[in-house]
Amino acid sequence: MDVNRRQLLKAAGLSVGAGGVVAASTTAAAAEEPVDQWRPADSSNYSASNRGVNDINWIVIHYTVGSYGGAINWFQNPDANVSAHYVVRNSDGHTTKMVDESDVAWHAAGFNSNSIGIEHEWVEGQDGFTDALYQRSAAIIDYLAETYDIPKNYYTSHTAPCNASGGIIGHMHTPTDSYCSSSNSTSCPGPYDPDKLQQYLGDGDGGDSTFEMDQAVHTTADLNAREQPGTDSPIVATMPEGSAGRVVNGPESADGYTWWGLHFHAENVWAWCAEPWLEACPTFCHGTYVESTGDLNVRSGPSVNDTVRSTVPEGTRGVVTQGPQNADGYQWWYVEWNDGSEGWSVVDYLQTA
Ligand SMILES: [Zn+2]
Repeated sequence: MDVNRRQLLKAAGLSVGAGGVVAASTTAAAAEEPVDQWRPADSSNYSASNRGVNDINWIVIHYTVGSYGGAINWFQNPDANVSAHYVVRNSDGHTTKMVDESDVAWHAAGFNSNSIGIEHEWVEGQDGFTDALYQRSAAIIDYLAETYDIPKNYYTSHTAPCNASGGIIGHMHTPTDSYCSSSNSTSCPGPYDPDKLQQYLGDGDGGDSTFEMDQAVHTTADLNAREQPGTDSPIVATMPEGSAGRVVNGPESADGYTWWGLHFHAENVWAWCAEPWLEACPTFCHGTYVESTGDLNVRSGPSVNDTVRSTVPEGTRGVVTQGPQNADGYQWWYVEWNDGSEGWSVVDYLQTA
């Protein structure tokens, strides 16, 4: 570990070392979960998992088209093959939890693995939702945003999950696959009004960050990278426009800017940059340093039909230089690996390093 990295991590009071970096993204609050009862969905209606802060990024809004009790019964029926984490009653906001957040409920095809589903009671002919329902919906979202570091922005485009680090989205706008090519075909969540929700959401800072830990970002101008957050802090380096970095600390406020601690791997710079000149990349930037999370085939082209040049073992590191390409249901990135091999690999086994 070099001095710059130590200074960077110390700036926000974190302990030095890997644990310090992790701690910044796992400040799970002791917030109380606003639920009234626990009625587990049938175990055949969801996927058991062990998701944590880094795996849960989106909150999906639904409406039941049927009664509160009916929805609860249906999720407990092994014939349903659907479920949601929460069901909220319209009359008073009474809430039943049915699937643990760590498990994957089946509520939005193609978008379940990194999301939480909330069902809101709506029956045919019902005139919108009550204030009580919106208040409880907001309380659940506040709880999830704080616990899982989810931004409280409401998105209405199926491309949002490929451009934003997380947020709130209606079922009808959830993408059906990991590269956001189309949205789920449904009228859900019906008359649910994002503006009304916004009135009741707390302004806690748990989830309204622009970036998240380990996110790949690049500079949109030649940008001074500084030892500490603040315009008076010494300049460590001036990063050329397009420099690829990884978020390792922040956000911090100073001198009217929001600051992010970044690691620019290629230049070996650990420093703070101001947010207005940083932009998130779609999964990776060209220049992002990545690591394989499993034994990974490296192919001559971005398709399962292209020749396997090599298989890099789990934990191999390299630099992304091209992509993304979408083919065969996968997103592909071209990586120049440290072991000398290079080629196209699927995104599913790549993470920023
Ligand atoms: Zn729905």
